[in-house]
Amino acid sequence: MKIQDILSETRTISFEFFPPREASGIPAVLGKIESLKSYSPNFISVTYGAGGSTRQFTEELTIKSKTDYDMEVMAHLTCVGHTVKELDEVLERLEFSSIENVIALRGDPPHDQAKFLAAEGGFKHASDLIRHISEHYSFGIGAACYPEGHPEAVSLDYDLRYAKLKVDNGAKFLVTQLFYDNDDFFHFVDRARDIGIEVPIIPGVLPVLSSKQIRRFTRLCGASIPADLEAHLVKYENDDESARAMGVEYATYQVQALWDAGVSGIHFYVLNRSYSVSNILDNLQLDRHTS
Ligand SMILES: Cc1cc2nc3c(=O)[nH]c(=O)nc-3n(C[C@H](O)[C@H](O)[C@H](O)COP(=O)(O)OP(=O)(O)OC[C@H]3O[C@@H](n4cnc5c(N)ncnc54)[C@H](O)[C@@H]3O)c2cc1C
Repeated sequence: MKIQDILSETRTISFEFFPPREASGIPAVLGKIESLKSYSPNFISVTYGAGGSTRQFTEELTIKSKTDYDMEVMAHLTCVGHTVKELDEVLERLEFSSIENVIALRGDPPHDQAKFLAAEGGFKHASDLIRHISEHYSFGIGAACYPEGHPEAVSLDYDLRYAKLKVDNGAKFLVTQLFYDNDDFFHFVDRARDIGIEVPIIPGVLPVLSSKQIRRFTRLCGASIPADLEAHLVKYENDDESARAMGVEYATYQVQALWDAGVSGIHFYVLNRSYSVSNILDNLQLDRHTS
């Protein structure tokens, strides 16, 4: 089922995983995916690496989740290092395996590159990939958006205009980058609605797993750390277990407030650490009926 059709019926819970480095890690990731199945996610997704064999594992995990575990899935696909022909090959394999949803991204540059460079014969922006998919395939298409702006964005307004371009080119829903201050999300949604973005905007939530990890992630993606969270991170700088417990509590309040405000869904960045997300969902009793 296409995610836009699911979103028209219900409020969604979704989980994002990442592929292992080696093929031998696939069963462990499948185990994590299976362990969260009892929370009845409306869909799950698996990220697409910057290059190399993990991309093959992304496809394998995406397809297995659908065929073996009967879960709805959203395949991640990026423009990094791909010609249009190669992107078509991936899309055709996904289509052949009855995958119905794709989140179409530009992608981050590989670690050895300072900035994103389009492959020769490839796409420069996610909006180009989205237009290509919507013109040639029947996937339900999602796209990324950034409540606090993408780190390379020339301005918040331009970044938002490009989010609108993704929707105009065929994206039927948006999923946000992680954020820790819900007001950033609410202001973003208001600004998006003001410029005519009408599709569902699903907030992405990453529970804190350790102080070090969250500082690294927020630095990379340009998200800010609110003062109350910063105080907790300082307190648990060298105590990952307490940081994780605090992260569960923080995310429980964050998700509850988002849910109470009527968001279309919650997309959890699981990072293959299913226990934090299951703790959060155990704390919450979310009614998924459309409000
Ligand atoms: C929900 C979600 C899932 C993700 N999954 C993955 C994944 O699986 N693999 C991965 O590698 N990364 C993933 N990312 C990270 C993402 O690839 C990076 O944030 C990347 O740097 C930008 O991708 P994008 O699709 O937003 O690109 P774009 O929309 O192309 O935007 C990139 C930058 O270019 C600017 N821009 C956009 N369009 C134009 C234009 N037409 N002209 C000029 N400037 C423009 C934007 O303002 C922005 O600064 C994900 C991010 C999110 C939020």
